[in-house]
Amino acid sequence: MTQAIKAVRGMNDILPDEADLWEQFEDAARDWLRAYGYRPIRMPLVEPTPLFSRAIGEVTDIVEKEMYSFEDALNGENLTLRPEGTASCVRAVLEHNLLYNAPQRLYYSGPMFRHERPQKGRYRQFHQIGVEALGFAGPDIDAEHIMMCQRLWDDLGIEDVRLELNSLGSPDERGRHRAALIAYLEGHADQLDDDARRRLHSNPLRILDTKNPLMQSLIEAAPRLDEYLGEQTLAHFDGVKAYLKDAGIPFRLNHRLVRGLDYYNLTVFEWTTDRLGAQGTICAGGRYDGLVAQLGGKPSPACGFAIGMERLLLLWQECGGQTERPAPDLYVVHQGEAAQRLAFRVAESLRGNGFALTLHCGGGSFKSQMKKADASGAQAALIIGDDEVQANAVTLKLLRTADGQPGEQRRVGIDLLGEEIARTLYDLEDDDGGL
Ligand code: ATP
Ligand code: MG
Repeated sequence: MTQAIKAVRGMNDILPDEADLWEQFEDAARDWLRAYGYRPIRMPLVEPTPLFSRAIGEVTDIVEKEMYSFEDALNGENLTLRPEGTASCVRAVLEHNLLYNAPQRLYYSGPMFRHERPQKGRYRQFHQIGVEALGFAGPDIDAEHIMMCQRLWDDLGIEDVRLELNSLGSPDERGRHRAALIAYLEGHADQLDDDARRRLHSNPLRILDTKNPLMQSLIEAAPRLDEYLGEQTLAHFDGVKAYLKDAGIPFRLNHRLVRGLDYYNLTVFEWTTDRLGAQGTICAGGRYDGLVAQLGGKPSPACGFAIGMERLLLLWQECGGQTERPAPDLYVVHQGEAAQRLAFRVAESLRGNGFALTLHCGGGSFKSQMKKADASGAQAALIIGDDEVQANAVTLKLLRTADGQPGEQRRVGIDLLGEEIARTLYDLEDDDGGL
C-alpha cells in the first residue's frame, strides 16, 4: 500500500468541531475590533527576507533560528514565510502611502510561521490577531490597546489573566543602559553561557530574557533599564498607568519584560496565564515608534499587539468556551426521481429566503434518511415523496419538541412554504414567504 502523507510537524489541521469554535471566536473578534474603529488589512504570507531581518532585528531568536526562508527557484529572490504581522503591516502601509494625512487603526489575522520545537501552545504554523495603530504618539492609544484586550477577555468570559507592563524608554536611554549593562556583563564574563557571550555586544538586553537558571542571580543584580529612564519616558509611562487605573485594569510592573523583537520602545506589555503551562503568554505588544522610519517611511509613532489564537482558544475552552455546532434550519428527505427534483427546487428556493437547508444525498429509505435528519440538528424535516409531488406540496415535520415527543407534522403547499416555516419554527410573520 502507498504510504500516506502526513502534515508537516508543528502545522495543524483544524478539524470541523474545532474550526466551529474558531469561527465563533473570529465573529466575536470582528465585532470587538469594529467597536473600537479598527479596519481590516490583509497582507501576503510571503515577504522579502530583508523585511524581517531589518524590522525584527538580526540578533533575535526569530531571525536567527525560527524563520522559514528560501530562495525563489525562478528568480533567486530571498523570501520568508512571515513569522509575525507587524513588519508586513508597516510595509504595506508605507507602500500604499496610507499614513499620508491620516493615522490608521488596523487589524489582521492569519497564520504565522516559526521553526520552533512544537509543544502545547507552541507550533510552527500558528495564528495571530494583530492590531496596529499608526500615527498616534500619546499614551492614550497604548492604554486603548490594553483596554481592548481586557474587554475581549471579559466578552469571552476568560479569567485568570495577568497584565505585565514595562517601559523600554527611548533609544538614547536604552543606549546608556546598554553601555552600563555590557560593562557589567563583561565584568562577569565567566558566568555567561554561549548564547549570552554571543549576544554581549550585539543584543545585551536579550540576555536579561535568558531562561538559563545558572544566570538568574547575575541577571537579578544587573543594571536596570528603569534607572536610566528620563522625564519624557516616565511621563508617557505615567500616562498609560493613569488611564489603566481609571479603567480599573490591574497590572504588574515587570522591569525585566523586554520582548523578543527589537522594534519596541516605551510601553511594552504581555497578558499571561498560569492555566496553559509553560506557554502562558496569550497576547503581547507595545510601542514601536522607530519602525516606520526603519522601514524607509517618514518617522511616525506606532503601537500594537498580537494575540496568539491557539493559546487564547485553549484558555477559552478552559474557561468554559464551547462550540455551538451550527445546525441547518431544515433537512430535506425525499424518495423517487420526481421528488428529488422537487426537493432541489424547494431547497434552493428556501435558501433564497434565507433558510439553511441540508439536502439529503445518497438515497436510502425514508427511515434512514429521517435518522440523518435528526442527527443533523435541524429544527424540522421536509419530507417529499410521490404524494407530495402530486399535491405540489411538502410535509413539514418538527424534529425538536420541548417535551421530546414526536413532532407535529403537516402538509404545506409549496406557495406558502416559506411563510409557514418562518411562523412554525421561528414565530415570525413573513409578508412574502411564499415561493
Ligand atoms: P514566546 O515567548 O511564547 O515564544 P513570543 O515573544 O515569541 O512568544 P510574539 O512574537 O510576541 O511571541 O507573538 C505574540 C503572541 O503570539 C505570543 O504571545 C503567543 O501567544 C503567540 N505565539 C508566538 N509564537 C507562537 C508559536 N510558535 N505557537 C503558538 N503561538 C505563538
Ligand atoms: Mg518566541
